[in-house]
Amino acid sequence: MTLRNIAIIAHVDHGKTTLVDELLKQSGVYRENERVQERAMDSGDIEKERGITILAKATSVEWKGVRINIVDTPGHADFGGEVERILSMVDGAIVLVDAAEGPMPQTKFVVGKALKVGLRPIVAVNKIDRADARADEVINEVFDLFAALDATDEQLDFPILYGSGRDGWMAPETEKPADASLAPLFDLVLDHVPEPTVGEGPFRMIGTILEANPFLGRIVTGRIHSGSVRSNQAVKVLNGEGKLVENGRVSKILAFRGLERQPIDEAHAGDIVAIAGLSKGTVADTFCDPSVTEPLHAQPIDPPTVTMSF
Ligand code: GDP
Repeated sequence: MTLRNIAIIAHVDHGKTTLVDELLKQSGVYRENERVQERAMDSGDIEKERGITILAKATSVEWKGVRINIVDTPGHADFGGEVERILSMVDGAIVLVDAAEGPMPQTKFVVGKALKVGLRPIVAVNKIDRADARADEVINEVFDLFAALDATDEQLDFPILYGSGRDGWMAPETEKPADASLAPLFDLVLDHVPEPTVGEGPFRMIGTILEANPFLGRIVTGRIHSGSVRSNQAVKVLNGEGKLVENGRVSKILAFRGLERQPIDEAHAGDIVAIAGLSKGTVADTFCDPSVTEPLHAQPIDPPTVTMSF
């Protein structure tokens, strides 16, 4: 299946959780009449119930036959290194900005990292329903922020949508259209965000997020750089200098599907998955086929090579 990997960047309370809930609903992840009890990117009652700690929250939706993996980005400066690692897994970002508040410190911090890793964000001005919305000024503030953060001309030429995540719509104009929905946002992600680039050769993946799970043990999430990985496959882990960290076997592969993480038999280059079964491999290590001799390097990150116009 074709893929897109994106991050959503927003200051706290600008409406990220609400928007992702709506994206899940409108992409048909929830069955009809099913009540949405858990919020996708909230603190995660489902995970708590199962004893799973999710450090970086991710979800996926399907739109027109394309799977869109959506990763959350911690907004706090304490997570600087983690933010960069997470952003290096994605090829695009939605910068969600409150139409009244405008860009705030967290927006600035994470946008700075996103521009640095070469992403070309989509800007979504949210909460346009607010009586005190000031969309045009907010767009100017976002432009000034990008410019102050040394955005390239391409990055400054960001596509813009306006809308209300709560009311379930986004549109190229501030007026709510008669057929309002989130379709313009989904379509823009498909058009503007490049497909993940895929490396040559056997399975390789940089460990990006590490978690401890009481049932599965150590779980490492990353984007598969090349090849594919199967459940029960022998893999090894190399550190940044190419030294062997461990030899082991993948006991489980988990993919993000809607709100859940689903075990799958096989995963392919470009996808973001979590793998269990290794006991020492950590963040920035290369998880790979036993035939691989060279590690991948977590930094620097090349800007996306595919350029698409909006
Ligand atoms: P997060 O912290 O970015 O995840 O923000 P939430 O999704 O939790 O939303 C923060 C607050 O803003 C909540 O009270 C939401 O009900 C409200 N909110 C979210 N989207 C909208 C919107 O489109 N319009 C308005 N007026 N309020 C919204």
